[in-house]
Amino acid sequence: MNQLGFVIQQRPDPPDWIFALDTPNFAPAPELWEWIKTVFLDKKSKLFNPDHFHLGAFYYPEIAVLWAQCGFKKQGRFVVGQAEKIMINAGGWKKERQEQQFYQWFNDLPEYLITIDASYAKQASDVDFCALIEHELYHIAHKKDKYGVPSYNRETGKPNLAIQGHDVEEFIGVVRRYGASTDVQNMVKAANQRPLVSKVDIHHACGTCYLKVV
Ligand SMILES: [Zn+2]
Repeated sequence: MNQLGFVIQQRPDPPDWIFALDTPNFAPAPELWEWIKTVFLDKKSKLFNPDHFHLGAFYYPEIAVLWAQCGFKKQGRFVVGQAEKIMINAGGWKKERQEQQFYQWFNDLPEYLITIDASYAKQASDVDFCALIEHELYHIAHKKDKYGVPSYNRETGKPNLAIQGHDVEEFIGVVRRYGASTDVQNMVKAANQRPLVSKVDIHHACGTCYLKVV
């Protein structure tokens, strides 16, 4: 791998200043979107995933990325990443305040926003970091029309997007007592296969541990 390839594929770190303040704060992360495009959306990349191909048509900040100083607790779980469609359900000053915040971060109103916990990212392994990023990318799906065919915007020609829930929502206790539903069975099947992406691929693509892997 040449020097340039190495630099481009280096996994971006959150900025240090984000950890310096006691109050929660955020930092726009255009470098993380560039890295996502290079690593997961580019057909030439070893970690290219055709499941995310529709996202390649979008530029920052149509899909914007944000570092959050730390994660948060929601429904008893700790959240380290989030993908959302930007919808400002407010009027008057409330709407204007929210819009101003986005303009300050991104110079524009994003259509979708991916937020990543910077504290988690700082200590996560390359494998865990890649898995988190792809998890969030899977939430932004190519929208299908009523016939189940992937749909495109008539004006821009770009894929229509939609937020997609998780493939499996179930309790371990229910599976233990009642057995696996089709969705859970599919998850088990995937879990029992060798991962398509090997740790070596990730180390090479992320760069940070490149020299440690033989
Ligand atoms: Zn999720």
